[in-house]
Amino acid sequence: MSGVIISGKVLAKEMRETMKSEVEELKKAGIIPGLTVILVGNNPASLSYVKAKRKACQEVGMYSELIHLPESTTQDELLGKISELNKNPKIHGILVQLPLPEHIEEKAVIAAISPYKDVDGFHPINVGNMVIGDSCFLPCTPHGIIKMIEKTGIEISGKHAVVIGRSNIVGKPVSLLLLQKNATVTICHSRTNHLKEITRRADILIAAVGRPKMITKEYVSPGAIVIDVGVNRIENGTLVGDVDFEEVRKIASYITPVPGGVGPMTITMLLSNTIKSAKQFPA
Ligand code: NDP
Repeated sequence: MSGVIISGKVLAKEMRETMKSEVEELKKAGIIPGLTVILVGNNPASLSYVKAKRKACQEVGMYSELIHLPESTTQDELLGKISELNKNPKIHGILVQLPLPEHIEEKAVIAAISPYKDVDGFHPINVGNMVIGDSCFLPCTPHGIIKMIEKTGIEISGKHAVVIGRSNIVGKPVSLLLLQKNATVTICHSRTNHLKEITRRADILIAAVGRPKMITKEYVSPGAIVIDVGVNRIENGTLVGDVDFEEVRKIASYITPVPGGVGPMTITMLLSNTIKSAKQFPA
């Protein structure tokens, strides 16, 4: 058996086609969905993420702007910029690219973004609403993961989902979303004992660790759906996931690749949140 590849690239393309039509409709009503991305400093990975996000916005016909600030920008200056954007009716989504330079407090910056424009879904109000299952902007990577699992056509309800990783941006929120879809969820982390024994009981295994090819076939039950969130650059410069793709593919029912898996879906859900914001809060 060889697992079917869930291509984030293909699914993202399909979803972006639908989004193009939604943007067209909004434009007819005089609304152009607008996203501002703020980048502080010149972190090379951040620069490439920001570029990809802007390109995706342009592809679906949205307005996008990049505010690229120097590394020396103070927290007050950044908060001032966010405050202006919160009031700007042309902008429906604000994204501050993380990580920020050390002298800027990430929490304060996230809290300063209007929850109505927080298309990353990181503001405590959106996080709280997600926890209680109320309307909110869902965080992009976890939301994209759910879409990929749903694409398989396999019912999430009743399945045992094991999530490796408990970060605020991936592990915790994806666990909650799976729970809301009626999965039975186990969350593992660096202090988990007998990790392999737990992951081998997963119908759905999500690896969000940040360790290249850590998940070998010994961690996976035959027939499991395997979602690889990890993005790791190894010594020869190539990008690999947290899962040993070639090996695990042989026993998984479905598997996501890296690159071309969760990454494109993360950006797609960002576009989706911005369009949602433009519909809900047009000006
Ligand atoms: P974090 O570093 O914030 O979290 C990693 C998690 O993995 C932690 O909870 C940690 O446990 C756990 N962990 C570390 N080592 C082990 C181990 N040996 N066994 C079990 N658990 C372990 O990372 P993120 O959640 O931000 O990201 C995870 C990966 O996903 C990264 O590679 C990142 O680049 C990628 N990513 C990809 C995105 C995409 O769009 N494709 C978006 C966001 C992230 P503990 O809490 O105990 O420290």
